[in-house]
Amino acid sequence: MKPGLQHEMLSAIGSRELFDQAREYAHAYMDATLTRRAFPDDEALGALAAFDEPLPDEPERPAEILRMLHEHGSPATVAASGGRYFGFVTGGALPAALAARWLADVWDQNPVLYVLSPVISQLESTCERWIADLLRLPAGTVAGFVSGTSTATLCGLAAGRYALLERAGWNVNSEGLAGAPPLRVIVNEQAHASVFRALEVLGFGSARLERAAADDEGRMRLDSMPELDARCLVIAQAGHVNSGAFDPLDEIGDRVRRANAWLHVDGAFGLWAAASRSKRVLTRGIEKADSWSVDAHKTLNAPYDNGLVLCRHASTLAVALHASGSYLQFSDRRDGMLYTPEMSRRARAVDLWATLKALGRSGVEDLVDRLCLHAERFAAKLKAQGFRVLNDVVFNQVLAACETPELTRATLEHIQRSGECWCGGAEWRGEPVIRISVCSWATTAEDIDRSVAAFVAAREAATLGDRQTA
Ligand SMILES: *Cc1c(COP(=O)(O)O)cnc(C)c1O
Repeated sequence: MKPGLQHEMLSAIGSRELFDQAREYAHAYMDATLTRRAFPDDEALGALAAFDEPLPDEPERPAEILRMLHEHGSPATVAASGGRYFGFVTGGALPAALAARWLADVWDQNPVLYVLSPVISQLESTCERWIADLLRLPAGTVAGFVSGTSTATLCGLAAGRYALLERAGWNVNSEGLAGAPPLRVIVNEQAHASVFRALEVLGFGSARLERAAADDEGRMRLDSMPELDARCLVIAQAGHVNSGAFDPLDEIGDRVRRANAWLHVDGAFGLWAAASRSKRVLTRGIEKADSWSVDAHKTLNAPYDNGLVLCRHASTLAVALHASGSYLQFSDRRDGMLYTPEMSRRARAVDLWATLKALGRSGVEDLVDRLCLHAERFAAKLKAQGFRVLNDVVFNQVLAACETPELTRATLEHIQRSGECWCGGAEWRGEPVIRISVCSWATTAEDIDRSVAAFVAAREAATLGDRQTA
């Protein structure tokens, strides 16, 4: 680095001007969070061309870097932290967690090992205990702090694979999969795409899976589950990505326990039902599982990215993900890398700790209940406006459709272009649907009503468009 440049960086830290500028921009962005378009308009998207430049030869002034981000970047963001973004299953960000994250960004901690960051080691331990308590998981459940449920599922299934093969007298870490005793994988045919990907990565060929049929709501049908034995890796789901439906976890858990098999639960957004007295019935039996994956960045509204793999067998998860090296200095405190496939990573536990601290037990319950109530309101108001609601709204997901598939598709296009709210689409029972996920703390009853009005206007525009082209 040129001495001049290093000097400039030192003075940037000293003067704080740069950070004040970032704070100003952040405040300007936040002020418009609740009013901005749910999806950027064409002008904002076009302005992204500003980033389409060759790699600069010379250093740029930091103030100019921030200006570019604010001028061209901010307007082209999706308003996922606002109240009218219902696309995919995307959580907002609680203010306390955002602010805590700013501070943690300045800390720039790397929670590989206790000796690399004692404070993050402590916060991870605290979060681990709090989450197990909130979700009513067995005492001693460990948590690995990962980017999201995709990685968490990979870790949980790796632990299951290790444990089942070990019981069969095979060490998969040293011996690999070739020649290993065959395992069976039982999965809901409508499991999330990330589950199938994790299975493929772990060497469970997709053609070899035993796919249990799903019922009308996407729940695993018990009568289509095969007989289990001690070689079975079973994956159940708490919260179907489209309908929000929950597999019958209690019965599945009993069968898995009887067979001495391994049960992993993908509870990306749905596992939080366990933290609500009124929704807890949906997750009855989750404590019977061996491992769970859950996101903090969806239902819980921690900032992105934030997910957890949870496992009741601490040492199995650690052995399945193990890595060693003479330079690694393990401690008698929590060493975060034991429970994740990564070494270096972001200190996500700060955001998570701040989220849980800001909500408390009652706040988490209130948040879960509110998302569900808003989803019910959305569904009821859509029905009153002549839309069809195709799923049983048990959690935060609503699947809506118009009279014909063509009208549903055209209406969705108009909704997406309106900027009033944003929803995605999916196929459900053979027809296109508009997929609504109520997942942000910021959503109000007025947001729901305004969005329903946007649905009605979009359907009108789509009907008119049809007539004009006919
Ligand atoms: C979102 C989701 C995932 C994937 O989680 P990421 O955090 O995006 O990796 C897996 N399963 C379900 C049911 C989901 O909703």
